[in-house]
Amino acid sequence: MSNEFRKRIRRSLIDANLQAALDANAERRKTGRLSAFASVTDYQERRQRAHAIKADVIARLDEYLSQFIAKVKKNSILVHRAKDAGEAIRIFLEIARSVEVKVGATHTPPLLVAKSKSMVSEEINLNQALEAVGYRVVETDLGEYIVQLRGERPSHIITPAVHLRRQEVGQLFAEKLGIPYTEDIPTLTNTARRILRDIFLTADIGVSGVNFGVAETGTLCIVTNEGNGRMVTTLPPIHVALMGIERLVPTLDDLALFLSLLPRSATGQKLSVYTSLIHSPKHLTDPDGPLERHLILVDNGRSTLLASPLREALYCIRCGACLNACPVFREIGGHAYASIYPGPIGSVISGALVDPNFAYLAQASSLCGACKEACPVDIDLPGLLLRVRSGLSPQSSKNGDESTRRNTKEGVGIPFAVKFGLKGFRFAAGTASPFAVFQSLGGILSRVYSPFRAYIRIPAWTGWGYSKDFPRLTTRMFRSRWKNIKQEVEEEFQVIRQPREAPTPEAPPPQSLITQFTDELTALGGKVYLVGEKELPARLTGFLKSKGIDRVCVDSVGAKYVTDIPLVRVPDPAVRCGVTGTLAGIAESGSVVLVGGAGQPLAASLLPEIHIAILRASEILPSLPEALRKPEVREAAAGVIITGPSRTADIEMTLTIGVHGPGELHIFLIDDSDAV
Ligand code: SF4
Repeated sequence: MSNEFRKRIRRSLIDANLQAALDANAERRKTGRLSAFASVTDYQERRQRAHAIKADVIARLDEYLSQFIAKVKKNSILVHRAKDAGEAIRIFLEIARSVEVKVGATHTPPLLVAKSKSMVSEEINLNQALEAVGYRVVETDLGEYIVQLRGERPSHIITPAVHLRRQEVGQLFAEKLGIPYTEDIPTLTNTARRILRDIFLTADIGVSGVNFGVAETGTLCIVTNEGNGRMVTTLPPIHVALMGIERLVPTLDDLALFLSLLPRSATGQKLSVYTSLIHSPKHLTDPDGPLERHLILVDNGRSTLLASPLREALYCIRCGACLNACPVFREIGGHAYASIYPGPIGSVISGALVDPNFAYLAQASSLCGACKEACPVDIDLPGLLLRVRSGLSPQSSKNGDESTRRNTKEGVGIPFAVKFGLKGFRFAAGTASPFAVFQSLGGILSRVYSPFRAYIRIPAWTGWGYSKDFPRLTTRMFRSRWKNIKQEVEEEFQVIRQPREAPTPEAPPPQSLITQFTDELTALGGKVYLVGEKELPARLTGFLKSKGIDRVCVDSVGAKYVTDIPLVRVPDPAVRCGVTGTLAGIAESGSVVLVGGAGQPLAASLLPEIHIAILRASEILPSLPEALRKPEVREAAAGVIITGPSRTADIEMTLTIGVHGPGELHIFLIDDSDAV
């Protein structure tokens, strides 16, 4: 472990603010994840399926990539491949220069780039590269915006500002944005909303990451909660998506499986608020969407990982659950790692994707296995960490088998004394009699040492002592206790080994899809009103008037039902309410599915502060896979699955509604009773 790393760890451990922030994050994330999975009775089966799918994708990556690229190109998205960070930056700059040429006549530099969260962009240092040539880059995820204002990097792959308390954010906004100091989280969030709204509306280029690419359809799937991901992929004239080459799933059915795991593991949600499904730039008749979409597929060390004993790390879906579960991360936070990929998965991949010198990060693990247990793809993180520790890094395997064997034998970064001790331990622990002798000797020595425990300093090089103490000694040695409890344990195992009848699954309570849909959406803060089709115009118009709405942004469905109030067909940021139709509802998550197309501006469900969606009861489907199978989903240039009002928990994990997207979501559910 490097001295610099030790220093960073010490600084983290004595930082009271950081410790409080980390404690709050870890506990809430853990509780959220467990309760989100409580209703998933086949969780283990799903995670094994996810593991198998990723294993197949990574084993046949070239094949899946070719299929995906062919589809994406057919869908008119411009595809670029970058073998490393330098090439990715060069490609991006070429795109940006072509944009400058196009907008040059009407535009005053610098070019404005609005970014949603993308770990690949952090990996390749995109912001720094763009700023170096004079472009203005603005992070639009609230957490990313906060760390950008502080001149920092994200400290967590899901919650970038997790290391900060509200007081620090209040101070920051007062200094940088000129507002009066406040610790009120909704006020801080609203300030960011107001400032970033202008950025979305005037940006020349929108940049996003990609959570999943679907090989069979060429779909780019992006999940966000705040709505900034939708803004940067819908409003600017050019959209550039950055994607690691490993982020593929074969089919839309597989995507549904991964979407049942990612948000639950990341933020404890059944689905993120916005799941965008992008296929192409805007069609000619579409009222909104970018004119050009680019996809930059970034390798940057992934092929090297693939060819190494660490290839399983490529199954990662960047949910962050292993960070929240890791007892080391929970104490030291992300910045102590120095890599933009911290925690257990970061300690495995940073050496290949960020800097070969980061191999030492693998020492920062107790190998307790909490990360593997939390991982929704069942990645063997402790095994991978051990491989990094033993020198089986991608860099060593790149040079051939002989080098790999040599490094394994040598144990990169491990002092000779430790290696010698470990060899001795292996000998002592490997056979019963020496083990018994050494164990008894150890017991005697520990008793001799015990009275002097307080006076003995443990050498700093061992890594012990500055952050933890040896545990108190037991009054009886394990070996002597074992003889007595052996019988009890044996009996207990006998009980466990008894064949047990599989529990009969309880029949779900009889619940209509409408009730389930309503319950789910209501729990998320949305509202559902069951209405007859004939009464809908009067109910809807009355509702709009009660809210003081004087103009409504509508799509073709909304236009049919809103009466007496002026309608706007092209999204206008000054209009407070949008009324749209829906393609389908999803009962299990309380979501609605919207697709773009002629007369269907997606921004009508995004820019206004209130979104009203009209859904037919007969269009409510039980679950996500059925919704994704609808042909309209893959035919549209873009679509979105909306699950509740826009929200964030980026400041102190405090839920705040209405960040960038609408803060109110109302569903007028047409009771076409045949299907009810
Ligand atoms: S390794 Fe597993 S738990 Fe960690 S971020 Fe990746 S998918 Fe999530």
